[in-house]
Amino acid sequence: MNKVVRIYLISEHKDKNGEIISYQDINKLLWELQRQTRTIKNKTIQYCWEYQNFSSDYYKEHHAYPSEKEILSYTLDGYVNDKFKNNNDLYSANCSSTTRNTVKEFKNAKADMIKGVKSVISYKAAQPLSLHNKSIHIEYIGGQYFANINLVNRSYAKEHDFASTMIRFRFLIRDNKSAETIIQRCLSNEYKISESEMFYDRKKNKWYINLCYSFSVSKNENLDSNKILGVDLGIAYPMCASVYGDYDRFTIHGGEIEKFRRTVEARKISMLKQGKNCGEGRKGHGIKCRNKPAYNISDKIARFRDTINHKYSKSLIDYALKNNCGVIQMEELTGITADADRFLKNWTYYDLQTKIKYKAEENGIKFKLIKPQYTSQRCSKCGYIDKENRKTQAHFLCLKCGFECNADYNASQNISIENIDMIIEQELKDGANVKHT
Ligand SMILES: [Zn+2]
Repeated sequence: MNKVVRIYLISEHKDKNGEIISYQDINKLLWELQRQTRTIKNKTIQYCWEYQNFSSDYYKEHHAYPSEKEILSYTLDGYVNDKFKNNNDLYSANCSSTTRNTVKEFKNAKADMIKGVKSVISYKAAQPLSLHNKSIHIEYIGGQYFANINLVNRSYAKEHDFASTMIRFRFLIRDNKSAETIIQRCLSNEYKISESEMFYDRKKNKWYINLCYSFSVSKNENLDSNKILGVDLGIAYPMCASVYGDYDRFTIHGGEIEKFRRTVEARKISMLKQGKNCGEGRKGHGIKCRNKPAYNISDKIARFRDTINHKYSKSLIDYALKNNCGVIQMEELTGITADADRFLKNWTYYDLQTKIKYKAEENGIKFKLIKPQYTSQRCSKCGYIDKENRKTQAHFLCLKCGFECNADYNASQNISIENIDMIIEQELKDGANVKHT
């Protein structure tokens, strides 16, 4: 499976002597590379037309098309690429990617352009920079992700005192759990980076990469595309999942998370107190310095969360596979944000959901999100919606049909129904099976 993720970049490039190169200078360089890319692309199209004209003349005479290799002693894109060996600053592998893709584009559009159905290809300013898959090197240092990207050729690097042909960027992935997961997987070689592109976002005055990556999806013939596993990120349990009508369920008891959270909270408070009374040293260096130990704990929390969520998402997917569920359905998390009742903090939920999504897709399971609405108040047996159905957080008792069970299980049963969000919307509109308060 091939996918793309957009990630913004911040230049953190240094020269040979470790001096920071300003982002304005990097911008200027990258704009220049964009300009050169455009020239190369447009010239490539010219070469393609020349060959095209030659080729059709040849056809008129010989009633057969010539072989690229016989005429050019290369393939057409090899021939074109050879023309751009020495007259630009692009990293050579990226330059070949540029010409190869342009030739491909020409060949795909050729018939339509000749017929006049499609206008002749011409590239305008601000072309994306093609990046060969081997041009992108990802690093994880001190809690941050970096990309070292081969962008310039050797002679440019030498002339400008660069340490190498690579330019260093930091990935901007604050709050972008999904991008972070993908980068982690590229780092661990679970995902393979493929040819990508870099763009300039004029409005934000920032560069971004459309990082292309691929992974193999294990074909599972046993999966039933009609069998939905509803997953509730819950109140009494962090996670509860079930297939509609199944008494069997998958639950995670959050004991280890809750225990860890309490330890961390306690330590955080005691360390902050210590910081206040520690006299010389940390005190007097501002709030940032004084809070430092607490920040270190948050790193620890992040690592713990990561490990736990990997574990939980893996066992959920195993459960889905064991039960041949072709679909995993979950609630969108946007609506939950304000709900203080929830057992865990939202960043944990979001990270967990992201991990479930990626693991599901890797295993050929479809991942579906539904709008979160009344799934915890609705009786999964008879559809009766009433806040009073849930007397306590953990206990569900339908006031209409008497169906009684664990509240998270009931929610997961609702979530395992196809299009349940639309069904509930209709039920609310009809009003017959709803208690209005
Ligand atoms: Zn009921």
